[in-house]
Amino acid sequence: MEDRITGHTGLMALFGSPIGHSGSPAMYNYSFAKLGLDYVYVAIDTKVGETEAAIAAMRTYKMRGGNVTMPCKSAAFHCMDELSPAARLIGAVNTIVNEDGRLTGHNTDGVGFVESLRDEGVKIRGKKLTLAGGGGAAAAIMVQCALDGVREISVFNRKDEFFGRTEELAKKVEGEAPGCVIRVYDIADTKRMTAEIAESDIFANATVVGMKPMDAESVLKDTSALRPGLVVADVVYNPEETRLLREAKEAGCICIGGRGMLLWQGVVAFKLFTGQDMPVDEVKELFYR
Ligand code: NAD
Repeated sequence: MEDRITGHTGLMALFGSPIGHSGSPAMYNYSFAKLGLDYVYVAIDTKVGETEAAIAAMRTYKMRGGNVTMPCKSAAFHCMDELSPAARLIGAVNTIVNEDGRLTGHNTDGVGFVESLRDEGVKIRGKKLTLAGGGGAAAAIMVQCALDGVREISVFNRKDEFFGRTEELAKKVEGEAPGCVIRVYDIADTKRMTAEIAESDIFANATVVGMKPMDAESVLKDTSALRPGLVVADVVYNPEETRLLREAKEAGCICIGGRGMLLWQGVVAFKLFTGQDMPVDEVKELFYR
């Protein structure tokens, strides 16, 4: 480390709060060292009201890139000079690339989800997806899956502040990806949810249900549509195996946890920052087993 960091070393960072638990510094710094790239990556605790100042600092310190996590992703969206198509639709930014002072906001969460499925041998083109959730993670998944050729998405969310936003986003996404039909339902309609999953190839949970402290719960109240061959993915990564995944495994489903999405959104961001491929097999072995 004393040899690696010099007066020339470029800074990259993760902004959000809390971030003390983040695995991103380990993953990026290992990859920089492995590929001989002269950068260092740190996690900087940033409250939502500090987002604008943090992003201004990216320009001041000529930082090549940065990641943004909760609760700063929407605030970061408003500080960009340019946006990727996915970030524009989602309305949130998790990756920022600095090209000589011009900041472009990307959202790699959705690609991270799709890549985590691909990594497990699951292709999404032409498939039907039932998706629980209408927050940031669900929006990213809905957008990317539609752009990548999923034919039908049935979204289920609570009638909370996310519901109307999900309906609006669904209309916008259908406009951008005309081959995809998106319907939004109340998650309280268990019968409808069971019927939609029964017709789906993939069921994904993108709500906070299953995450600590809700780790005793599952978003799926009726498990009768779980069956061998159905792909069940959970974006929750703490715990690594949620109740949903445990029940899906018992029913013979193909199960994919949230750690893959976490890894792959970083792999995609790394390529945007450096133009190089993260040594993903080693990173997986060291930090994601
Ligand atoms: P968010 O706050 O934007 O959205 C929360 C969602 O949960 C909404 O759809 C809300 O309606 C739903 N919800 C809340 N309480 C509920 C309940 N009791 N019953 C049913 N639905 C409920 O959060 P987010 O950023 O979308 O994050 C959601 C989850 O995804 C978190 O667990 C987060 O850690 C995870 N996540 C994982 C990754 C990854 O890389 N694996 C990336 C982003 C988010």
